[in-house]
Amino acid sequence: MAKIAFIGLGNMGGPMAANLCKAQHHVTAFDLSAPAVAAAVEKGAHRAASAAEAVKDAEIVVTMLPAGKHVREVYEKDVLPNVARGALLIDCSTIDVESARHVASAAKAKGFEMIDAPVSGGVRGATAGTLTFMVGGPEAAFAKARPILDKMGKNIVHAGESGSGQAAKICNNMILGISMLGVCEGFMLGKRLGLDAQKLFNVVSTASGSCWSLVNYCPVPGPVPTSPANRDYQAGFTAAMMLKDLLLAQQASAASGAATPMGAEAAQLFSLFVNAGNAAKDFSGIIKMIDGK
Ligand code: NAD
Repeated sequence: MAKIAFIGLGNMGGPMAANLCKAQHHVTAFDLSAPAVAAAVEKGAHRAASAAEAVKDAEIVVTMLPAGKHVREVYEKDVLPNVARGALLIDCSTIDVESARHVASAAKAKGFEMIDAPVSGGVRGATAGTLTFMVGGPEAAFAKARPILDKMGKNIVHAGESGSGQAAKICNNMILGISMLGVCEGFMLGKRLGLDAQKLFNVVSTASGSCWSLVNYCPVPGPVPTSPANRDYQAGFTAAMMLKDLLLAQQASAASGAATPMGAEAAQLFSLFVNAGNAAKDFSGIIKMIDGK
């Protein structure tokens, strides 16, 4: 049983912390949102009044925060000045590679081991404990973190040095954004051509156009009953988060000289969708915009 501080108990962090409690770890939880902390306490976590209090006796710190600026702030102000000697630091948020490397090197300078360990698999994977973890950081820190990550995920990949987990995550989510737009366009073209959505799904899901966006997250209601399309595109994975990741991919493309024209187009389309008041909708809801609604 490890003493774990968990900071950031939102859509993803909440169920991830619950799985650590279920595995009999001693989890001390903090979030700026009181209802999020209360929900974690109900699942067996111990309440902390601040991030600084949560980390002071921790052997392991897990953070699951919205973006790079939150991660920089929480590590600089709360975690690094207060965490117990020898603690292992694990950031699971999806953030820019530069922030991940900056925070890891600040941690190293203070004598702490740190990994970036962003996830894929959504709220469903977080709840079921079946997330994919993409990990960047030293091999020894990865080995130490593995038994903890095992309680929250089932596919755990060491991608390379610090920041490599974030790099893998950004590539994955750029593919996801592009493939979701492809599926939306296919279904809207099918609609105009008079095809039944279920029949189109039956064909494409067993043909060469099949992909995760179609099979797990079909953007039209009906074929995949668990997809957000069946609950008026309630997230899930918000359009704002998808836009954030597509912009991170564009930032990384510009910095590294990679050509990602489809990624650029996807970022533009999701930007239009988010700015039309759909930030909190599931990202698959972009099908309505593709449909001209
Ligand atoms: P969320 O907005 O539901 O949760 C973030 C939580 O962080 C909130 O509860 C917020 O109150 C808390 N928070 C913000 N600043 C804080 C601070 N300074 N101290 C303590 N708590 C603070 O977001 P989420 O959907 O859980 O996503 C978290 C991260 O996981 C993001 O980086 C996202 O890109 C990534 N992600 C999300 C999904 C998904 O399907 N939702 C999938 C994979 C990865």
